[in-house]
Amino acid sequence: MSLVLAETIAGVKPSKTLAVSAKAAELRAQGFDVINFGAGEPDFDTPENIKDAAVKAIRDGQTKYTAASGTIQLKSAVQNKLQRENGLHYELNQLIINAGAKHTLFTLFQTILNAGDEVLIPAPYWVSYPDMVALLRGRPVIVPTTAENNFEITVADLQKYITPKTKALVLNSPSNPTGSVYSREKLQAIADFLAYKDLYIISDEIYEHFLYDGARFCSIAQLSEKIRAKTIIVNGVSKAYSMTGWRIGYAAGPEAVIQAMTMIQSQSLSNPTSIAQAAAVEALNGAQTSVAKMLAAFQERRDLICQAFQEIDGVACRCPQGAFYVFPEVSALYEKSFQGQKIRNSEDLAAALLENAHIAVVPGGSFGAENYIRLSYACAPENIQRGLARFKEFVQNLR
Ligand SMILES: *Cc1c(COP(=O)(O)O)cnc(C)c1O
Repeated sequence: MSLVLAETIAGVKPSKTLAVSAKAAELRAQGFDVINFGAGEPDFDTPENIKDAAVKAIRDGQTKYTAASGTIQLKSAVQNKLQRENGLHYELNQLIINAGAKHTLFTLFQTILNAGDEVLIPAPYWVSYPDMVALLRGRPVIVPTTAENNFEITVADLQKYITPKTKALVLNSPSNPTGSVYSREKLQAIADFLAYKDLYIISDEIYEHFLYDGARFCSIAQLSEKIRAKTIIVNGVSKAYSMTGWRIGYAAGPEAVIQAMTMIQSQSLSNPTSIAQAAAVEALNGAQTSVAKMLAAFQERRDLICQAFQEIDGVACRCPQGAFYVFPEVSALYEKSFQGQKIRNSEDLAAALLENAHIAVVPGGSFGAENYIRLSYACAPENIQRGLARFKEFVQNLR
């Protein structure tokens, strides 16, 4: 037999963040007290009003197929959200609901990419962007950024990396993994430069609500009609409403793109779960008090973890203005050893931290930033304290 898998499979890796969580769970099952800074999700439960809406949807018989692009109710709720929070008006045929923002992105890349099309992905990047592009036979083009520049791309970067094959640029502000938030001014410069360029802008706004120290969110789609006409906003309820398991994401963008995405969805998913869609309606239309509560908790934890890192030699941790991650630079620890075992890179460090200090972090290499590691502070403050104490002790024992 000579049956072979698609060529693209060999070039793609499974999601690293999920792998770290799996390893941590394994150690925990063996009885170890593992503190998990690996998770990419809020540790809060889904708010009661949202759960109640889902139960009601089941009782009311909202248990059948919906329109492929999502229910009118949820698309209207998204339409209202974009108007209310972002001052952006979209028609219903410019909106689609998908099974999570990750699925929104995959469907979007399926819609716009031809083989060999280049997608500009600023690094450090969210783990899935390059692999999604590669799976669809596109070419991820990594645009490096620096900590000095707050991990933001500039017009000079774009000038350097745009080619006739460039099909899209991915922006993710606030950023996973760095927590960086683009200011309106910085986005405006990028928007002015891109106004006359033929490329799509994919704006992943899933951390929009997670802002600290008075930082303000700006969507590049708000900056001009020309930019809005080529921008696809990607968002969802996973992070803002602690609904990662419900799998509801959405896109807003040019009608032609959204309609093509709807066509693909009608031939693949059919529709996102009817019950989860009903829950998402309540998330977007209902009281927003849970978001504010969660945010206050995250602000406190961010301050706590940044402060704790100040006391660890050889680890440089900026205090980011968004999302719920810190992204400390750890390369000063490389080439040292823990109990005779040499740490050469972010993967070695993450493995050593998990095995010896029982704290789970994600190696920066998976985000295209080898000198860093990512810690999520979406966990209890006491775990932040205990975990960082272990981190400190681990570093003190490096030779
Ligand atoms: C979590 C995350 C997503 C995907 O969220 P879903 O759970 O699929 O809605 C997309 N982009 C970034 C940057 C994320 O961190």
